[in-house]
Amino acid sequence: MEWSREFANWRARCRRFAEEWAFHRDMAISEFESLGMSHREARRLARRRLGARFNYRRAALRELQSDCRTLLQLLPLHRMKKSPLLLPTVIAVTIGLMLAFNPLRLQVIQSMQGLVPFVPHRGFERLIPLTPRGVVPTGFAAVTLWSFWLIAMARLAAAPRLRAHFRVWAFGGAILVLLMAFGGVFWATALQVLLVNRWAHEGAQGSAIIAFLFGYVGWAFAALRFWYHDLESRCPVCLRRFGMPEVRGSVNDVLIAPLETETICLHGHGLNVESIWGPVFAPDPSA
Ligand SMILES: [Zn+2]
Repeated sequence: MEWSREFANWRARCRRFAEEWAFHRDMAISEFESLGMSHREARRLARRRLGARFNYRRAALRELQSDCRTLLQLLPLHRMKKSPLLLPTVIAVTIGLMLAFNPLRLQVIQSMQGLVPFVPHRGFERLIPLTPRGVVPTGFAAVTLWSFWLIAMARLAAAPRLRAHFRVWAFGGAILVLLMAFGGVFWATALQVLLVNRWAHEGAQGSAIIAFLFGYVGWAFAALRFWYHDLESRCPVCLRRFGMPEVRGSVNDVLIAPLETETICLHGHGLNVESIWGPVFAPDPSA
C-alpha cells in the first residue's frame, strides 16, 4: 500500500538523523580518547562540543522532511483534502441533506423541471401564500443559473491552460452541474419557507424576498469564482489539488523577480507557478 510505504520512508528518514548524530558523537569521543583521555572524560567533552541533541533534532528533521508536519501530510485525511472526489461528494451530500430534512421534498424535485429550458412545468396559482404548496416559481433561478453557466463556459474556453485538457473540462462540467443542482434545490427550499404563509408585516416579507434575490445572485457570483479558482488549483492530469507551496520573489518587482507561488502536483505530474501574469503549469516530462 502506498501509504504504508511512504510511512516506512518517513521512519527511515527519522532514523537517519539518529544514525548521523551517533556517528558524529562517536567520532568526537574517539578523537578525545586518542588524545589520551578516559572514555568518560571523552564523552563529557564530546557532549560539550556538540551541544544538546535536542537543539539540532528539530531543524534536522524538518530538513530531512521527517517532522510531524510531513507525517500529517501523509495521513489519508490530509490526502482526502486534495482528492478530486471530495468537492463533488460535499456538494452532493449537502443537496441530499437539504432534501432529506424537507417534508415537501417531492415538490422541490418537481420544481427542478422549471430550471431545464424548453420543458413545460406546473405553474403556481398564487405566490403568497404559495398555492399549491411547494410549487415554486423558478424563473429567476433559471435565468441566474444559466447566465452563470454561460459565463463559466466562456471563462473555461478563454483560459488556454484549462482549455487544453479534456479532464479539466469533464471535471469542471460535472462540478458546474452539481453547483447548479445545489442552486436549484436551495432556491426552491428557501422560497418554500419564505412564501408558505402570509407574514403579519407584508413589508417585511417583501423585503425578505428582495434580500433573498440579491443574496442569491451574490451566491451565484461567489460560486462561480470558487469554481474557477478550484479548477485553477488542480493538476490538469490527475485533478488533485496542488500542494507544498513555496513563495519567492518580491511584491515590488515586476519583471526580474516578481512575487510568485510555486506549487507541485504531489503525484509528480508537474509544477504550477502563479504570479501576477497568471498561473502557468509545466508538466513533468518524465511523468
Ligand atoms: Zn497530478
